[in-house]
Amino acid sequence: MDVAKRAQAVAVLGGTFNPVHFGHLRSALELVDHLHLSQLRLMVSARPPHRDEPQTSAEHRAAMVQLAVDDEPRLICDTRELARSGPSYTVDSLKALRAEVGQEMPLLLVVGGDAVQGLTGWSRWQALLDYAHLVVVARPGFTLPRGGELGDWLTSHEAGLPGDLFDVPQGRVYLESLRPLPISATEIRALLQSGKSARYLLPDSVLDYINQHELYTGRSPTT
Ligand code: ATP
Repeated sequence: MDVAKRAQAVAVLGGTFNPVHFGHLRSALELVDHLHLSQLRLMVSARPPHRDEPQTSAEHRAAMVQLAVDDEPRLICDTRELARSGPSYTVDSLKALRAEVGQEMPLLLVVGGDAVQGLTGWSRWQALLDYAHLVVVARPGFTLPRGGELGDWLTSHEAGLPGDLFDVPQGRVYLESLRPLPISATEIRALLQSGKSARYLLPDSVLDYINQHELYTGRSPTT
């Protein structure tokens, strides 16, 4: 394994982050530690192609991610998808990132166990491995696909050891088990909309931002 490449490798966790919570943040940090990475980018999906457009604007969602990672230099808020028009296809973002980091650098696309189940619906999903490795993080309540088109595809590219991700720049799949935290943004939005506390599920700074901007009140769409 190439130790220098590992230190420079770039990992990306895409999501709507509506809002960002400790499930995202703890998984991201554990992955950084486990794989000895120097940075992981939380990439905010401006216009997610596979779900209704979030009522909370991409700018608010990015601001919350920025607040959440402010004091953790290894986690970075990536807003490249806010600068593009049209649906935020991950494959386009990976292509842009690949052009930025060059052809040799390992790129890791991190997806949760729920997100990977819908992978075949993503634009040019098989081309993701032309630009990056795929790191699938187990998530409570979701089993990983085995068999079928997706399961076979994942298995056929599976890396045996984490170190295999740093020998080549892209093209491998690694299944990672991290601390399972059963937290979802859906649950947080529901708590806030019903006037309950979401404290200790997400950073206080993010909760303060939510209160300040009256997000997720259930009253009216926020921009
Ligand atoms: P929602 O409930 O609105 O669907 P979410 O909590 O799943 O949101 P997303 O922004 O959609 O959050 O997730 C971004 C990425 O983070 C996805 O790959 C998802 O699988 C992963 N993820 C989200 N929550 C967790 C968690 N608790 N543990 C591990 N991975 C997570």
